[in-house]
Amino acid sequence: MREYLKFYIDGKWVDPTTPKTVEVINPATEAVSGTISLGSAADVDKAVAAARRAFATWGETSVKDRLDILQAIQSEYAKRSDELGDAVVEEMGAPVSLGRGFHVGLGAGHLQTAIEVLKEFQFEQQRGATLIRYEPIGVCGLITPWNWPMNQTCVKIFPALASGCTMILKPPQLAPYSAQILAEIIHDAGTPAGVFNMIQGQGSVIGNALSTHQDVDMISFTGSEPVGVQIQKDAADTVKRVGLELGGKSAWIVLDDADMANNVAGATGGMMGNSGQTCSAGSRLLVPASRLEEAIKASADACNAVSVGDPNGNFAMGPVVSKSQFNIIQDYIQKGLDEGAQLIAGGLGRPEGLDKGWYVKPTVFVTNNDTVIAREEIFGPVLVVIPYNDVDDAIRIANDSNFGLGGYVSGSDADECRRVARKMRTGAIWINGGFDFHAPFGGYKRSGNGREWGEYGFHEYLEIKSIIG
Ligand code: NAD
Repeated sequence: MREYLKFYIDGKWVDPTTPKTVEVINPATEAVSGTISLGSAADVDKAVAAARRAFATWGETSVKDRLDILQAIQSEYAKRSDELGDAVVEEMGAPVSLGRGFHVGLGAGHLQTAIEVLKEFQFEQQRGATLIRYEPIGVCGLITPWNWPMNQTCVKIFPALASGCTMILKPPQLAPYSAQILAEIIHDAGTPAGVFNMIQGQGSVIGNALSTHQDVDMISFTGSEPVGVQIQKDAADTVKRVGLELGGKSAWIVLDDADMANNVAGATGGMMGNSGQTCSAGSRLLVPASRLEEAIKASADACNAVSVGDPNGNFAMGPVVSKSQFNIIQDYIQKGLDEGAQLIAGGLGRPEGLDKGWYVKPTVFVTNNDTVIAREEIFGPVLVVIPYNDVDDAIRIANDSNFGLGGYVSGSDADECRRVARKMRTGAIWINGGFDFHAPFGGYKRSGNGREWGEYGFHEYLEIKSIIG
């Protein structure tokens, strides 16, 4: 049983101003796995004051000093990576191979990338008569979701640290453990007091206190669209910068010249990874209408092959994060059935033999782009397959969405794949797979406004100053 009752403020582990706790549920067992404290606005005031004091010196440190700290964090992180992975498994139900593997690897990747970018970043550039300086924006509130906990925290913390900012992290209530260990790592690495602070608690309390705080210069938020909208409103009175990384309903276009069976199987398996709880998941699979039957068979076979079970066992997919997430997904599956979508795999209820835990059947529907299940983010292992008539029709369908976070193109002609990618209105497009920690990541339209990852992630945390003459 885990017990994390203290917050990390001003370089020390401190008690909440007013004691209040909540139990954390293991989604695989539905049993209590631990207890955390819930903070208050008074705790936020203390953390912001500490971050403001620390900014006076941290904001002026040399690149070398910041690199030393990031490298010290890197060595502490490496020592505790399995512990971090196990925390992710327990808090959000990722299979242990995924938790210890990609989840923790993403955090390590963002840390390494921050180090690489910091070594090269030009904080001053002379352009004609003007000296352009990039300066840290100041005290940042970092608000993160539960779905890729290490990714979301590390993609914010390390560029912010590297840029010279100080910060207060508010981790998600559903997945608080890995953030607690990460705070210990940052402390053990010798990060100066006040540079990094962490308070656990409710979004409506801690998140709101940060968003409205007059001494917080910026909020970096990853999460759902409604909360992102609320944060922008809350932050408006103090005119703070708000970086938003929101939801998605990304299209995966399989072109006619692609190996249909392999690509459809890959896209289907990819959708079920992390129990479908990935903002950039290719949740709309677009296939040529003339090859729909072939695609249906490949997708159904791949979906039925996804093993579901105990995250500590040898399964491809664990539960979803919570009872409420389970219910939301069940409602969407019911909606798909009600609106006449063709169910080709999975469906309502838990997979056979799993009576406890928030396990969902990997599910695939065939439908058109006007249905609710094709338009709204389900955030679970539910894929919709949509037939298209020709490439222009595929691009039209892909762009017919309120979201614009990710996109995928599979095909054997690289030029044609790029032509299609250029026409898609989304922030990132993966062609035939691929992965790059330096590629900017963020959304068009209602998927947000920021760009994280790599050098672009630094710009989120930097002000631009012109010194003319
Ligand atoms: P959420 O919006 O419910 O919560 C995210 C965070 O915001 C949590 O820490 C929560 O406590 C906090 N919060 C809640 N209310 C708040 C308020 N009024 N003020 C300030 N903070 C508040 O999202 P979630 O359910 O944790 O995560 C799932 C969502 O995140 C999905 O929509 C997903 O697409 C999105 N997401 C986006 C990206 C991206 O990079 N674009 C990445 C991962 C997840």
